[in-house]
Amino acid sequence: LQQKLIESEKLSAIGKLGAGLAHEIRNPLTSIIGLTQLLKENNHQNKYLEIITAELERMKNLVNQFVSLGKPTVLVREHSNLNELITDTVELMNSNARLHNVDIDVELTKNDTYAYIDKAKIKQVLINFIKNAFEAISSGGTIHIHLNSDMKSKEVHIKIMDNGEGMTEEQVDSLGTPFFTTKESGLGMGLPICYDIIHSHEGRVHIDSEKGKGTNIYLVLPLDQ
Ligand code: ADP
Ligand code: MG
Repeated sequence: LQQKLIESEKLSAIGKLGAGLAHEIRNPLTSIIGLTQLLKENNHQNKYLEIITAELERMKNLVNQFVSLGKPTVLVREHSNLNELITDTVELMNSNARLHNVDIDVELTKNDTYAYIDKAKIKQVLINFIKNAFEAISSGGTIHIHLNSDMKSKEVHIKIMDNGEGMTEEQVDSLGTPFFTTKESGLGMGLPICYDIIHSHEGRVHIDSEKGKGTNIYLVLPLDQ
């Protein structure tokens, strides 16, 4: 019976994931089909081709994420400036933030802080955390990002705090479980991928949250002097 239950849980998780993926892929597909129709009819072709390429990229990323969930994480690590990485990432997210009426407040270390990391993957982690913060805020709020380095413990501490909707204790306990989502079109793959990347860097993450108040994420990575 236990085995059967586990199997049916797995199946329903896969079904849920499949439904989420189908939903995400249907939207860009619909717009691509519409655009190719327009391409046949008139001559703003470059603009339409740009949108088509962007939508195809989005679909490719979704499918890649789905596939990468089952594979071991391979890191390409280098001595990396975290002040720069955080600044770049926030810049990337800023137009989206303004759209949601969200302020991103950043406090970095006075001297540049370095870590031996896979820059692209840690950037992906930061983007995922910041996106979740946006989605929790919905409209009008602040995200604080703080970077600190601790020479004694040889650790880098990154805090990401939002004053969004927050979570119940039960929800906090479910974080990191693949496919756990409270969003209508959520995939519940963001945090499992983040956790996997952080752990493969010998780092750790802790999440504190209070319903109606907001969420604090504490990310720790090894310092590289
Ligand atoms: P998704 O964003 O697709 O739902 P994630 O793995 O990124 O998947 O997040 C899983 C769930 O964790 C979210 O659906 C949400 O309920 C909760 N969550 C994550 N980050 C936050 C946050 N900053 N504030 C409130 N809830 C959060
Ligand atoms: Mg997410």
